[in-house]
Amino acid sequence: MQVLVVGAGVIGLAVARAAALRGHDVIVAEATGGIGTGVSSRNSEVVHAGIYYPTGSLRARHSTRGRRMLYDFCAAHGVAYNKCGKLIVATDQAELGKVEALKAQGEANGVEGLELIGGNAARALEGDLACIGALSSPESGIVDSHGYMRALWGELENFGGRIAFTTPVERLWLAASEWHVAFGGRDAGTVAFDAVVNSAGLGAQALARRIEGYPANKIPPLVLAKGNYFAFAGKPAFSRLIYPTPVDGGLGVHVTLDLAGRMRFGPDVEWIDHESYTVDPHRADAFYDRIRRYWPGVPDGSLVPDYCGIRPKLTGPGQPAADFLIADEAAHAMKRLVCLFGIESPGLTSSLSLAEDIADRIV
Ligand SMILES: Cc1cc2nc3c(=O)[nH]c(=O)nc-3n(C[C@H](O)[C@H](O)[C@H](O)COP(=O)(O)OP(=O)(O)OC[C@H]3O[C@@H](n4cnc5c(N)ncnc54)[C@H](O)[C@@H]3O)c2cc1C
Repeated sequence: MQVLVVGAGVIGLAVARAAALRGHDVIVAEATGGIGTGVSSRNSEVVHAGIYYPTGSLRARHSTRGRRMLYDFCAAHGVAYNKCGKLIVATDQAELGKVEALKAQGEANGVEGLELIGGNAARALEGDLACIGALSSPESGIVDSHGYMRALWGELENFGGRIAFTTPVERLWLAASEWHVAFGGRDAGTVAFDAVVNSAGLGAQALARRIEGYPANKIPPLVLAKGNYFAFAGKPAFSRLIYPTPVDGGLGVHVTLDLAGRMRFGPDVEWIDHESYTVDPHRADAFYDRIRRYWPGVPDGSLVPDYCGIRPKLTGPGQPAADFLIADEAAHAMKRLVCLFGIESPGLTSSLSLAEDIADRIV
């Protein structure tokens, strides 16, 4: 089949690679001039173990399986990663209950190696930590997400696929069992495909509205939840990922590390109504308060505004978190079209497993 994948983020690249591996003739259309310039360049680069998500949900299934696939892929393709492990810390009795519930949730999802440890055991691992207990997750880690996306692109090309950059998809319509796709950009024109995958991230809903005949009531709302990061200006205090218990809309302001060992904090949750990528330095005040609960020693003046990302959520403040939404023929009654909505965290972790699922749905 001639397959069009819209968007060269981590999801589009993984889907395109999976389709090319199955022998399809694959083109990725990307509106910007490079790969991974959207949500995929603005995240924590954490390989999630698969703990938090309701058992049986797409997020649970694809993150646990995708995590194993991602580590194997990185090892086989020379992509840098570090299975550094993670501690989800409890600073009072109420949080201890939450951490115990997370252990049960993670085990129900098939996450390996989870262990509840006491405050002293946690401090033996990370000396600066203040907590009364923690959930240790040895399978959690970090990955060079751009190295990973470059490796996906390389494999896609090895199997005959191509990326068309600065090629926004403007309109799609089905005629005589083929998808006709109108592209803008330098080489504007119309090309026919057998199958289309809409993995346009924050642009997925806008693109769905430009698919002729797509049922409007099947396009979910796009809710933007910005996550701000602050870099730590000093010697890193931790060698593992340190997470508080989750908050409404996110996993709580946590310690993330990059592969050079540098430490940063974030992302918080800032509900916004239009895309904006500035980090308000005043948000640091709330960061200090939250971080001091598990790291009382965080020095004043040590947090520097870094970057932010925007989660493409499907539900807003106070509402239950939505699952990934994979809209295929069963959802919209259109053949060989898959639209992906709400692919927020753990999308990076889940990408290889999600990609197989999606490649199965376009046949
Ligand atoms: C703050 C934050 C932290 C996160 N942390 C983690 C984490 O630690 N671990 C984890 O597993 N996941 C994490 N995630 C989730 C992960 O980053 C996303 O799930 C993933 O990057 C989504 O990738 P994507 O390909 O769907 O979207 P994108 O990367 O945004 O790609 C979509 C692409 O489509 C293109 N596009 C849009 N419209 C069109 C059009 N009409 N025509 C052509 N191209 C178009 C865009 O230019 C873009 O390049 C985090 C997300 C956020 C926001």
